[in-house]
Amino acid sequence: MKITAAVARETSAPFSIETLELEAPRAGEVLVRIVATGLCHTDIVVRDQVLPTPMPVVLGHEGAGVVEAVGEGVTSLAPGDEVVLGFAFCGHCPSCSDHQPGYCTEFMGRNFGGCRPDGSKALTDAAGAPVGSHYFGQSSFATYALAAENNVVKVTGAAQPLANLGPLGCGMMTGAGAVFNTLAAPAGSSIIVTGGGPVGLSGVMAAAARDYATIVLVEPVAARRELGRELGATHVIDPAAGDVAEQLRAILPGGVDRALDSTGIPGVIQSLVGCLALRGQLAWVGVPASLEATITLPMIPMMAQGLSVKGVTEGDADPAVLIPEMIALNAAGKFPFEKMIRTYPLAEINTAIDDQHKGLCVKAVLVA
Ligand SMILES: [Zn+2]
Ligand SMILES: [Zn+2]
Repeated sequence: MKITAAVARETSAPFSIETLELEAPRAGEVLVRIVATGLCHTDIVVRDQVLPTPMPVVLGHEGAGVVEAVGEGVTSLAPGDEVVLGFAFCGHCPSCSDHQPGYCTEFMGRNFGGCRPDGSKALTDAAGAPVGSHYFGQSSFATYALAAENNVVKVTGAAQPLANLGPLGCGMMTGAGAVFNTLAAPAGSSIIVTGGGPVGLSGVMAAAARDYATIVLVEPVAARRELGRELGATHVIDPAAGDVAEQLRAILPGGVDRALDSTGIPGVIQSLVGCLALRGQLAWVGVPASLEATITLPMIPMMAQGLSVKGVTEGDADPAVLIPEMIALNAAGKFPFEKMIRTYPLAEINTAIDDQHKGLCVKAVLVA
């Protein structure tokens, strides 16, 4: 079938809107009419080839839409189902069996390979040349996408419009999952979140939903600090106003119980170590700008204070569990993610990227 898609053809170049040919769903696959897709930092990192998915390729990994057709053997989904598309995983390795599909042994190939696990691509361009598909098991910067049955989560009946739900499949799951699953502190705890983009703000909302007493957001853009307050931050810090650890200690003299970094900036993560209270825990979820990025840890303070640090993929979450949980929290007024969203037509993807880069919108969602 003919579809419209935003194609990434050259490193760091604008996406081109093209008509492509999409194959019919194979066994175990689902054809989804994409209603909207979130724009995530990881898409830009891949467009810039920090993560080397082969080009040309259709990116996009926060799709939401309606099932149009199912391939042979698909039993849990049917045409008409409203769905959110998550990342791809094998479903049977030790991590997948342990409900930790973000650490699937096949994660890199299935999500960044730009093809099916067997190496085939489902898209061809107007000249008949193959175009990468199945990016994060979806390639949803498009009007239609093929996904595997196991990376599609049914959301029929959600109170939010379907167009708002796509980002639950990656960015929001990452921030919320890191708070719910990784840091998992009891009610009354304190947390510092660095970066007031969609992932960090999802962490703020998640901490508020779990009744943390003190939620500190560190963010250089004033409008995002304001939004952070609206979404549950009890304090905000402007990193330009001075040393973050000193500003944090002015709020919490004994340090903070939990720290979540969404910036992926080594110096920022490093500074969070100095913010932690005794037995404090730090997690980072942002993809750094270089594959060689490193942090160093002070051994004696780490031991003496019992500190832990952890890198986290996709919020340590099982999408089939966390996506419905976020929708239920939202319906109860506790996870108002729609306040972060600004929509753009898919054809204006390059404008949306510019606006997100300039801080003019928090979460851009592309409506197909
Ligand atoms: Zn697996
Ligand atoms: Zn993402």
